[in-house]
Amino acid sequence: MNSFNLQNIVRQHILSLAPYSSARDEYTGKEGIFLDANENPIGSATPENWNRYPDPYQWDIKEKLAPIKGCRPSQIFLGNGSDEPIDLIIRLTCEPKEDNIIILPPTYGMYEVSASVNNVEIQKVPLTADYQLDTEKIIAAINPKTKLIFICSPNNPTGNLIDRQAILTIIENFQQGIVIIDEAYNDFSEEPSFIPALDNFPNVMVLQTFSKAWGLAALRLGMAFANEELISLLNKIKYPYNINGLTQKQLIENIGNVEFVKNSVKTLNQNRTDMIVELEKLPIVQKIYPSDANFLLVKFTEAKKIFDYLIEQKTIVRDRSKVILCDNSLRISIGTTEENHHLIELLKKY
Ligand SMILES: *Cc1c(COP(=O)(O)O)cnc(C)c1O
Repeated sequence: MNSFNLQNIVRQHILSLAPYSSARDEYTGKEGIFLDANENPIGSATPENWNRYPDPYQWDIKEKLAPIKGCRPSQIFLGNGSDEPIDLIIRLTCEPKEDNIIILPPTYGMYEVSASVNNVEIQKVPLTADYQLDTEKIIAAINPKTKLIFICSPNNPTGNLIDRQAILTIIENFQQGIVIIDEAYNDFSEEPSFIPALDNFPNVMVLQTFSKAWGLAALRLGMAFANEELISLLNKIKYPYNINGLTQKQLIENIGNVEFVKNSVKTLNQNRTDMIVELEKLPIVQKIYPSDANFLLVKFTEAKKIFDYLIEQKTIVRDRSKVILCDNSLRISIGTTEENHHLIELLKKY
């Protein structure tokens, strides 16, 4: 089997491209009189000052994040949501109309959207009936032009963890490209992240996010973790100041608040258990799929009608009934105790 060589996976013109060099790239010191970036030296139109460009590589965040995640700061890329590294890894590796990616539906929609925007072919290998990897079919789908395989675990919209051994099989059998493991919901599960093992897996990129367990969806901060060589290539093609100063400041000041994350996860997981107990009592519920995330995929007798009824009552869940293998299913985010109670009461009345 060929061994992994990033130089063969990355689009050739990017290897030779000279990235934009910002003022903050060329002088990285913090002290001095800064007359190099055409900023407003007087201040800002807001009460707090935001007149200076932020750190393009967010080193203060990465230094605090690395020990939390069990990696080195240089193995971290921060993006404007996970959407940014998803788009960048496609643009870094896939020649439009030539290369392809493999996705495993039902799964998160952004992999397909980003590939389509970039005019990159998508191969779909559906999950099995119990929402696990069909490893043989995935391996059979790999062709010389396959650059990326996206695996989401715990998977969205199904909620389940993907078998670790199956993920390892894909990693072993795909040395010609990169396996992206989207761990957006890892905080809600007991499953160890792949991040601390990245030194063993040069062909793996892990995605996590501050949008879920950290409760920071509005700040737009996603994380990618991989070997240093891949991270520097992502840095080479990103927008120079992709993480704004306000977001960086909020994170630097609050990243120590792992208590909040732990407590949220504990509460939401308990609420999930309680919700399952209540849903199981309802005759309109046909199946509740096992979940290691902060949502449940639930199969109903008539999902679309129940969805419309809930909308009329100003209670919004996600209709996934048109999605492959999710027939008659709604995806329900776990809310507060009161919100969940409200939903259950409405469903009882239906
Ligand atoms: C919510 C979610 C994300 C996070 O997206 P952000 O852009 O970071 O808010 C990533 N992957 C999956 C599967 C998700 O469900």
